[in-house]
Amino acid sequence: MIRTKGYAAQNPTTDLAPWDFERREVGPHDVQFDILYCGVCHSDLHQIKNEWFDGVFPMVPGHEIVGRVVKVGDDVTKFKVGDLAGTGCMVDSCRECENCQDGLEQYCKNGNIQTYNNVNKYTDGMPTYGGYSKTIVVNEDFVLHISEKLDLAATAPLLCAGITTYSPLRHWKVGKGHKLAVLGLGGLGHMAVKFGVAFGADVTVLSTSPKKEEDAKKLGAHHFVVTSDPEQLKAVKGTFDFILDTVSAPHDFPLYLSLLNTNGVHICVGVPTVPTSFPPFSLLDGRKSLAGSGIGGIRETQEMLDFCAAHNIVSDIELIDVKNITEAYERMLKGDVRYRFVIDIATL
Ligand code: NAP
Ligand code: ZN
Ligand code: ZN
Repeated sequence: MIRTKGYAAQNPTTDLAPWDFERREVGPHDVQFDILYCGVCHSDLHQIKNEWFDGVFPMVPGHEIVGRVVKVGDDVTKFKVGDLAGTGCMVDSCRECENCQDGLEQYCKNGNIQTYNNVNKYTDGMPTYGGYSKTIVVNEDFVLHISEKLDLAATAPLLCAGITTYSPLRHWKVGKGHKLAVLGLGGLGHMAVKFGVAFGADVTVLSTSPKKEEDAKKLGAHHFVVTSDPEQLKAVKGTFDFILDTVSAPHDFPLYLSLLNTNGVHICVGVPTVPTSFPPFSLLDGRKSLAGSGIGGIRETQEMLDFCAAHNIVSDIELIDVKNITEAYERMLKGDVRYRFVIDIATL
């Protein structure tokens, strides 16, 4: 076993603190990489607080992981020692179901294995531990190639915030001629703006935070709407082809559905912890759709990383010391993220 250090929540009511634990030895198909940076996703906070389901504790969060390869198994063909490497939200899947065969491992019919807060039933039967740690061992099929061209710390959030917004925009072929609204300007939202602009859409940010307007424009958004202002909302009623909803807290679905044009699609990627209900009229008037999307498959994640390298797209980040993780979560809850915290793992 490989001894390593991490930052873990021992149960849903404690703050994160240093914790030593073990990873499996490098198997024939495994890549071990030393972690240099790990992004802080709102999903980390939902999970350490047990807001979605009963978690596996102690929990080492983190699924926006980048670093450098230090060891490869005998049968590994895709990586060598010294390469940059990344891992996102998954570390395994069945590989056999139709979704895995189609490169949609995130929708594996037998269940994908999440990078943390899961048990790896396919490989070693051990709990999975995430990227707030020094080193990680992952089957090479779930390790991504990272460009040497981009700022490495700012690349980390692409592994979740990046792919989670890239994938639905690609799936629904959002681009030139489309009016796209990005609901919530946080980690996912700011990546959605960058991709929406890169794909040629007319992008509006719908935000609860008036002070983010200047940032939204700098990110490339064409318009900014403060959702607490009825006049501003009225002006965009019935206008959007797509709303990409990245909001982490309960919100008013009928209100946002009313902003869609005929045949418009409201795509949920945010995962509020409270179920929502709304009148079917808010969908049928205008033949609207309410849809959802989860992260992205491995092939598409590599495509997104290559797209970012070619178009010089990274996340806007605030690099933090791991000691300040609790404060970062508190700021995240207040919507005060500009626009992704990334942990410098050298501070661990
Ligand atoms: P984040 O950085 O905290 O951003 C969320 C943003 O939502 C906030 O910055 C804020 O933007 C807005 N917001 C917060 N509370 C709100 C409220 N009560 N009403 C309206 N807007 C509100 O979070 P994130 O890391 O981007 O993650 C967002 C959500 O996506 C989380 O629920 C996360 O778990 C989920 N997620 C899903 C997937 C997936 O596969 N589908 C992957 C990753 C994350 P403004 O200040 O602009 O209003
Ligand atoms: Zn995430
Ligand atoms: Zn599968």
